[in-house]
Amino acid sequence: MKLTIVGSGYVGLVTGTCFAEVGHHVTCVDNDEKKVKQLQDGIIPIYEPGLEALVRKNVQLERLKFTASIEEGVRNGEVVFIAVPTPPQPDGSVDLSYVEKVARSIAEVLTDYRVIVDKSTVPVKTGEKVAETIRRYRKNEVDFDVVSNPEFLREGSAVADLMNPDRIVIGANGDRAVAVMKEVYEPFNAPIMVTDLNSAELIKHASNSFLALKISYINAVAAICEASGADIGKVADGMGADKRIGREFLHAGLGYGGSCFPKDLSAFIRISEDLGYEFNLLKEVERINADQLERFLKKMRSVMWVLREKKIGQLGLAFKGNTDDIRSSVAISIAHKMMEEGATVRAYDPKGMEKCAVHYPKIPLVQDPYEVAQDADALVVATEWKDFKELDWLRIKSLMRTPLVFDGRNLLVPDEMKNLALNITAWVVRP
Ligand code: NAD
Repeated sequence: MKLTIVGSGYVGLVTGTCFAEVGHHVTCVDNDEKKVKQLQDGIIPIYEPGLEALVRKNVQLERLKFTASIEEGVRNGEVVFIAVPTPPQPDGSVDLSYVEKVARSIAEVLTDYRVIVDKSTVPVKTGEKVAETIRRYRKNEVDFDVVSNPEFLREGSAVADLMNPDRIVIGANGDRAVAVMKEVYEPFNAPIMVTDLNSAELIKHASNSFLALKISYINAVAAICEASGADIGKVADGMGADKRIGREFLHAGLGYGGSCFPKDLSAFIRISEDLGYEFNLLKEVERINADQLERFLKKMRSVMWVLREKKIGQLGLAFKGNTDDIRSSVAISIAHKMMEEGATVRAYDPKGMEKCAVHYPKIPLVQDPYEVAQDADALVVATEWKDFKELDWLRIKSLMRTPLVFDGRNLLVPDEMKNLALNITAWVVRP
């Protein structure tokens, strides 16, 4: 099929590439001309495992191309996906101006029937608004359908998630669009769930909020473990072995960040409020998450007494492992907080440093993970990169002034660290 994706970021580029990989012909549109030029020149502006090779392959096979022209995109694609940002506004509600703008732009160049698919994460009833906007701005009575097809990929494993999805959600109010969407997803061999437009939109916010809730839940349990001397790892294992609960998202640590959970949670709170329901449970999830950073700093102070004039090495800047995405990363907040308290910070991340240098130039960066340890009074593990686990920790210890490690992600195995005579303070103390 001929497909078009408007917005070639983390979601749009990976989705478009995976659609091409299963045999569709895909046009990726972006209004950032610099990004389009990079993509046309074979430069991939984001890091996602496996993505670069797939882009190259599908460009070579002429199944994937990039343009800044929405007109070309709408002409080329029988299905047009919208994958533009839906950032938060100061009051927590969603800024839908990007989606609205794309809807208008599509309407203005619409000449034949198209299925317009919202892949961005949007509040319930947005699809209805998109349809209304297209009806208002289209140049003639050309027919179209609007579909909601929320995206569940996780950054860091986006290609694998897209190629093997747990389920595909298609929210539509008509059979014609559903048939087209089923054809799009046929090659993926995944369960397809068809719902009405509003339900599909809600599934996304309800899912992300639930996952955030799981994280805050285990972090609250971690506080109880810490106070009682229980082992949070064991508690999480014991809980997670129950199929009704599951082990995933039960990792105690610094809490969630990134471009999705914080914004989707506050959006869902606002959406519920607007619909007459006070979602206090989710407000508590937010509060617990916000507390995690302060609790971590408190722990550092309790061990180091003062942070002022201390040299602190930081491993990790990305909001999670396997990505270069530093948007709303808790690791960035930690670096800033430690610097505010007068510590000298040096940070390293396997993929996130380029973006950090652009957006947070005040955070000093080093090009080698061992350099953060040089003369350091302490090390902070702020992102769960597997690479950090595999570092030569004996060498790290030999470089440090005092062998103190604060593991904000419970990534390292405390017993192994203690064998190296490294004094590790896991985020949650394990007996
Ligand atoms: P992103 O910022 O990485 O990419 C968005 C792209 O859209 C950018 O390249 C931007 O230049 C482009 N764009 C903006 N306005 C445009 C316009 N008018 N025409 C063409 N292109 C335009 O964002 P993202 O992380 O890919 O997120 C996109 C949406 O998907 C959001 O709603 C997000 O909540 C949702 N989502 C994200 C993830 C994730 O893990 N990143 C997962 C699921 C859903």
